[in-house]
Amino acid sequence: VNDSNARTSNARTISLGATAHVRSADEALHWALDLEGRLLAGHEDGLHHRVGLDASVLSRTPGAVPRRTSPEEGDRVLARAAASLREAAALLARGEATLELADGQDPERARHVALGLLERAAARADRPDDERAAFARVYRPVRMLPPDSTNALVLQVTEGCSWGRCTFCSLYEGVPFRVKDERALLEHVDGVEALLGAGAAQRTRVFLGDANALLAPMPRLLQALALARARFPAATRDGAGAFVDAFSGRGRTEDELRALRDAGLRRLTVGLESGSLALLRSLRKPSTPDAVAELVRVAHRAGLAVAVTVLAGAGGRTFEREHEVETARVVRALDLGPSDLVFLSPLVGSGGGGVEPLEPAEVSAQARRLNEALGGGPWRVVPYDLRRSIF
Ligand code: SF4
Repeated sequence: VNDSNARTSNARTISLGATAHVRSADEALHWALDLEGRLLAGHEDGLHHRVGLDASVLSRTPGAVPRRTSPEEGDRVLARAAASLREAAALLARGEATLELADGQDPERARHVALGLLERAAARADRPDDERAAFARVYRPVRMLPPDSTNALVLQVTEGCSWGRCTFCSLYEGVPFRVKDERALLEHVDGVEALLGAGAAQRTRVFLGDANALLAPMPRLLQALALARARFPAATRDGAGAFVDAFSGRGRTEDELRALRDAGLRRLTVGLESGSLALLRSLRKPSTPDAVAELVRVAHRAGLAVAVTVLAGAGGRTFEREHEVETARVVRALDLGPSDLVFLSPLVGSGGGGVEPLEPAEVSAQARRLNEALGGGPWRVVPYDLRRSIF
């Protein structure tokens, strides 16, 4: 089906692997799909999109921060994708598109599979309400994922946040905290398996949601990791991760964390936010830098990697200097290694806590200073922007 003579200005290249791709010859247009025909990402004439399982769309122009589109705007992106995928299917059916074959793929069979996938993808993109309804039957909203897990397969062992009162965070507002029991977790995993279908193949990591999954009892956590291994083997390739706060993970012993590691857990993302205890109190974050340090020590002894979150702009002008100095001091004392990460997020909004907030440009300047002050060790400092988070 590799008929390059048939290329026109509409020329399309289609490839099939763990994900499928449709590209125009000049790369101005590109759609990425999972193997159920669900749109994952795309770009059209410089506008980049990422598409969630619930048909939500994040869009950005080059160099800009991604923006969550309104449902109407997102649906228009999906409608354009649907038209484009139908056009690619028609070109392929006429032998006017190039089909890139992976090693050992039979050309006729691949062509048949690609045609079916493109048509299914176009139909899905035309019915975003169906995608939203199917998602809502299985998941509560997945509000954030850390940057090492953006393409993870999420299993919601818990829902919401057990605390929910940090002044800078409204992520789980309106989501009552719940720990799933054995049966509810099994039903959830069944639902995830049915929802993702062949699309699970392109996910190489598991994330145990939501904000404090480690508050679930050990049998539930082990059940989740065992189900992940049994049902989604590809997704366990890079191991599993979870958020943990010092207040929710502190009760976990080294032996328990080692058991979770043996079951597939690899990294805990620990909410530090700041090394200043006074600032944490002002933010109503119910942990202390010492408790974070102890949790990191126990996690390391259990063989787990950690990622520590730091919030640029927290505490505004009131804590500006103290936040930078104390955070650098605490992070540098954590004994982080090459497998560990520091996630540096810009504060979005005022952050509350009765302080004088920094202007957005000042938050960016503080993020640059923190990036400098927190770097230089064997660990990596990674930007973490919640606005880029989509599942
Ligand atoms: S503990 Fe984490 S998820 Fe919960 S309110 Fe605080 S920052 Fe938000």
